[in-house]
Amino acid sequence: MNSTIADRILQIKQELPKTVKLIAVSKYASVEAMREAYQAGIRDFGESRVLEAIAKKQELQDLPDITWHMIGTLQSNKARQALLNFDWIHSVDRLSLAQQLNRLAIETNTQISICLQVKLADDPSKSGWSEQELIANLASLAQCQAIQIKGLMTILPLGLTPQQSLNIFQKVAALKNRLNSQRWQNINELSMGMSQDYDLAVKAGATMIRIGSKVFG
Ligand SMILES: *Cc1c(COP(=O)(O)O)cnc(C)c1O
Repeated sequence: MNSTIADRILQIKQELPKTVKLIAVSKYASVEAMREAYQAGIRDFGESRVLEAIAKKQELQDLPDITWHMIGTLQSNKARQALLNFDWIHSVDRLSLAQQLNRLAIETNTQISICLQVKLADDPSKSGWSEQELIANLASLAQCQAIQIKGLMTILPLGLTPQQSLNIFQKVAALKNRLNSQRWQNINELSMGMSQDYDLAVKAGATMIRIGSKVFG
C-alpha cells in the first residue's frame, strides 16, 4: 500500500457515521506508527496482549488522552494488570473473569468498562458466551456492580459470506435489544467489525469497530 496511515484513517472515517468509534488495533504496530495514527486523530487503541500494551503505554506517556482497549483473550493471571492499565476490556468471555474483575475493581478502587464477548456462530477457535449461556449467567453478572458492563463484543469466524456475516452481526444487535428490555438498559455498545467486515457491522448497528490491518497496513 502506498497510502499513509493518516490517509487510511481519513478514508475509513469518511464512510463512518459520526456515532461509531474507530478503535485502531495496534497489536502489530510500532509506537511510531501509533504516533502517526494519533496525529491523524485516533485516540482509541486496541491491544491484545497486556504486557505489550503496558510497554507501549510507557513509551507513549506524553500522549495523555489515549483510551486503551483490551481486545484479546484475557488470562486470569493477567486480569489485575489489565484492570489497572486499560480503560476498556472487550474480551470478558466467561463469568469467572467478570467476577474476578469485579473483586479486583473493589480491591483496587478502579473503574473499568467492559464488553461481554459473545459467540453466536459455531467457532471452536473462539471463546465467548452463547446466547443461552449469557442469559443463564445474567443474574450472577448483575451482582458484579463494581465493573461497568456497557456492551457486547463479537469476533466472527473466518470464511463467512457477507450475508452470513451480516446475519450474525444482526443477531448480536438483537441480543443487545433483548438485554435492554430485561433491565440491562446500560448495555449500549456493540463492539464488532474488523478490517474485512466493518461495513456490515456498522450496517447492523456497531458502535465501536476494531480496525488493525486497514489502518496500519
Ligand atoms: C486483530 C484484531 C482485530 C483487528 O483485525 P484486522 O483484521 O487487522 O482489522 C480486531 N479485533 C480483535 C479481537 C483482534 O484480535
